[in-house]
Amino acid sequence: MVNVHLQARVPDGVDAVAAFALIAPEIFADADTVDRLGAFPADAIASLAAAGLLTRPLPRAHGGEALAVAAEATEAADCLGALLTAIGAASLTVGRLFEGHCNAILLVDRYGGPMATLAAEASAGRISGVWNAERGAGLQARRCSDGWRLTGRKVHCSGAGSIRRPLVTAQTPDDGPLMCLVDMASAGIAVDLSVWQAAGMRGTATGTVDFDDVFVAADAVIGGPGDYYRAPLFAGGAWRVLAVQLGGLRQILALHAAQLTRSGRGADAVSRHRFSAAAGAFESARLLVAEAGRRATDATAPPDAIVAYVDLARGTFETLALLGVDAARRNAGLAAFLGPDPLDRCCRDLETYLRQPMLDASRDNAAAYLLARGGAFQP
Ligand SMILES: Cc1cc2nc3c(=O)[nH]c(=O)nc-3n(C[C@H](O)[C@H](O)[C@H](O)COP(=O)(O)OP(=O)(O)OC[C@H]3O[C@@H](n4cnc5c(N)ncnc54)[C@H](O)[C@@H]3O)c2cc1C
Repeated sequence: MVNVHLQARVPDGVDAVAAFALIAPEIFADADTVDRLGAFPADAIASLAAAGLLTRPLPRAHGGEALAVAAEATEAADCLGALLTAIGAASLTVGRLFEGHCNAILLVDRYGGPMATLAAEASAGRISGVWNAERGAGLQARRCSDGWRLTGRKVHCSGAGSIRRPLVTAQTPDDGPLMCLVDMASAGIAVDLSVWQAAGMRGTATGTVDFDDVFVAADAVIGGPGDYYRAPLFAGGAWRVLAVQLGGLRQILALHAAQLTRSGRGADAVSRHRFSAAAGAFESARLLVAEAGRRATDATAPPDAIVAYVDLARGTFETLALLGVDAARRNAGLAAFLGPDPLDRCCRDLETYLRQPMLDASRDNAAAYLLARGGAFQP
């Protein structure tokens, strides 16, 4: 349930992670309902808003704490990473949506654009998000006298139907993709959520959005064509997704431990062996994601080194996370498949969320980078 009085109870000076800790139990409890209904987690987003967490990622000039935008500096990245992990542990669905919100703010801050619009949305309790994925012809942008017109389709749009001002990419005829803050109230937009019959992350409302000659004013455009894919922000920014996923892996490990304790199987050497493999996988992932966050936000690091490190981290994280899920499922046995079980939900959510774009290509890029440099990253 939304606690509308929460903001008043979050004392001044309480950091974002501590503020989230106040609402983490209710978001974790709500995640089962969200999964069962396959519904957008409106209550959880309202709780984030009530705890002041939708505005904290904004630049200070827009009333925030620069949580997303100052994640250039290592200390800020540690703070954002810890928050993303905490949210992911409570609900991967909510974590995925919050990460998209942070990404939209970061892109507008970095390349220039209508931050006041995002600030107004956050103040009104609404998240933003970034819709880039497409299949086939995708979304095309063509210039008109006072802006752009968009025609085509975006796929895998999280928060579709709930987000009012998403950051959408669209292909331009001659340059790279354009970024713009679409107003979902515009004429010519149709959202289809029926396509999202997913095994996990069911509440992300990851739908298809069709645009039929939708007008976007020039002042809703972010940066210039091609900025979206610029290195290292695009590929390097995947560290934030890993930070959310790490929270899911942490929750699975905790539920796995509780299950072994409850069933008494923690006394069995084979179960303990599997648990130690899962615990080792989590610990390796924790160190890896922290290092990826630090390197990705080191303004002095060469872009190709950042991208290669985060690429290697993505591929390696997937391996570690699948190990953690497999060990939990084997140790819990059939119990975790019978009826609603938070362990099953968390495993389904993480397995689904791990399907990220071009993971093998990321491994390949990291290998090519390292093979040209003797095989290891500089410490
Ligand atoms: C819960 C969730 C929410 C999401 N929300 C959003 C969102 O809000 N906005 C958004 O833009 N996107 C979103 N996405 C989509 C995401 O950006 C990717 O499009 C999607 O996750 C791609 O997953 P995939 O497994 O199909 O990847 P792919 O990259 O298609 O990989 C699938 C397989 O094909 C292989 N492969 C890929 N390309 C090639 C190739 N050229 N040659 C040979 N093999 C290839 C890969 O190695 C892999 O084995 C979301 C995804 C999830 C899971």
